Amino acid sequence: MHGLMQDRPLLISSLIEHAATFHPHTEIVSRLPEGTVHRTDWQGVCLRSRQVANALKTLGIQQGDRVGTLAWNSYRHLALYYGVSGSGAVLHTVNPRLFPEQIDYIVNHAEDQVLFFDTTFAPLVEQLAPRLKSVKAFIAMTDRAHMPAISVPNLMCFDELLDAQSTEYTWPEFDEKSASSLCYTSGTTGNPKGVLYSHRSTLLHTLMELAPDTFGISSAETLMLIVPMFHANAWGAPYAAAMVGAKLVLPGPHLDGESVYTLMRDEKVTFSQGVPTVWMMLFQYLDKNPQLDPRTLGVKRIGIGGAAVSRSVLERFENQFGAEVVQGWGMTETSPIGVISKLLPKHAGIDKDELVKIKLKQGRGVWGVDLKIVDADGKALPWDGVAFGNLYVRGPWIASGYYRGEGGSVLDEEGFFPTGDVATIDPDGYLQLVDRAKDVIKSGGEWISSIDVENAAASHPGVSESAVIGVSHPKWQERPLLLVVKRPGASVEPQDLLDHLGTRIAKWWLPDEVLFVDALPHTATGKLLKTKLREQYREHKLPTA
Ligand code: ADP
Repeated sequence: MHGLMQDRPLLISSLIEHAATFHPHTEIVSRLPEGTVHRTDWQGVCLRSRQVANALKTLGIQQGDRVGTLAWNSYRHLALYYGVSGSGAVLHTVNPRLFPEQIDYIVNHAEDQVLFFDTTFAPLVEQLAPRLKSVKAFIAMTDRAHMPAISVPNLMCFDELLDAQSTEYTWPEFDEKSASSLCYTSGTTGNPKGVLYSHRSTLLHTLMELAPDTFGISSAETLMLIVPMFHANAWGAPYAAAMVGAKLVLPGPHLDGESVYTLMRDEKVTFSQGVPTVWMMLFQYLDKNPQLDPRTLGVKRIGIGGAAVSRSVLERFENQFGAEVVQGWGMTETSPIGVISKLLPKHAGIDKDELVKIKLKQGRGVWGVDLKIVDADGKALPWDGVAFGNLYVRGPWIASGYYRGEGGSVLDEEGFFPTGDVATIDPDGYLQLVDRAKDVIKSGGEWISSIDVENAAASHPGVSESAVIGVSHPKWQERPLLLVVKRPGASVEPQDLLDHLGTRIAKWWLPDEVLFVDALPHTATGKLLKTKLREQYREHKLPTA
């Protein structure tokens, strides 16, 4: 027997209409590529997104067609989020930090029909345009005065195109399982693969994101999105903000410490989300400006994901900002939220060091995501916080495969998605990432977690950033090599670091060598690019070899 409740589809267009109806005058603040600060509100974004939908019709875009963006976080990108998906087309957010050949590949693979781009990327678009076979129009996300002088076929001005459209539009109703947006994983190996989100998966993920035991976002929030809108839909925050009518602050390309700090101060940001590397830039700015007191900012929470949170980052936000760090683990394939780190009532009053250990775990399961860890034979491992194995996840906002069948069928027989991460889960359901399966160091049949060694190194005051990789070893198969970028002006020797690590990690985990380097390579999403490091040090001979 079916229930007798209305079968209303879960559609992204409902979010923007809700925000415009119930929070019309809540601000959306953007720092534009030109550096100026622009202000609109949810009503303004709603009208603009209806104009986007009308403009797409004039451009001949049909439901299911892919519409590309090469863009920073801004109100124009936000209007595309709603206008494109709301009209039934698929928003393909292209990561501009990818290599040009990869962008070329994914735009062709997605068969984007039009490409919206920020003027920052005009030279890149001009270079790529001849190879982007499916793209029928290139739309610069700016006004007439700032149009780039480039030669590409069918170049249009965003503001002009939209100004000519009606602000009236009736959002179509369609199956909630329809595709809404497309995001390629950066693919540190092989070609990038497309993750295709649906309206249903997006709305369920959004609901979960608002809960007090996850990110707890409400209308009282001023949310600054440091995480780019081209990276897993900015972790879903543009949707979450609309669902509750929170104020949004969008920093555009200006992610340096000073720009982030001044926006936090001027807009009274209460919650901000980003990967660890951007926070390092903020800390460097604060180190150079000791007269600033981040406590006066009033930031309440900092969301961090995409890479492990180190104790030093956690404590800096807690002590210097008076802010709570909310860590999350996830991937593009998980929308991206898989687990979120929040304390339980039973943790009240426990010893500080124990508390830090819990806070540094990636997080607990949330409703909607089933977790399992399995051994090499696929046998489920116990949740004792000790046994570690390959992490699998299942749920309504987890990918079931990749766009156009790339990579074949990926789910196991129980319908779980293999994450490529290795983790433990403790009796309270806290997941702790040991490593990415390909980054773990295999030493004499045992595993060393590069994340743990890096976190221990990060707690040394002379260390700005570090990476640990396995280097081949005649006796042990692999042994750890620690690469360190020093903090400017710090005088630290390899032995100092080994002494520091010696009190923090198991003796056999200690790196066989410490090398100082000027910089470490990063992926397009700001993570350590370990494949490159492993390649670079493939022939490296450790002193112990
Ligand atoms: P990519 O980095 O390949 O572009 P994703 O952004 O989807 O793709 O990255 C997902 C991966 O990032 C996860 O599989 C995991 O290895 C890592 N990751 C995500 N969150 C965390 C976290 N809180 N701690 C450690 N690693 C994390």
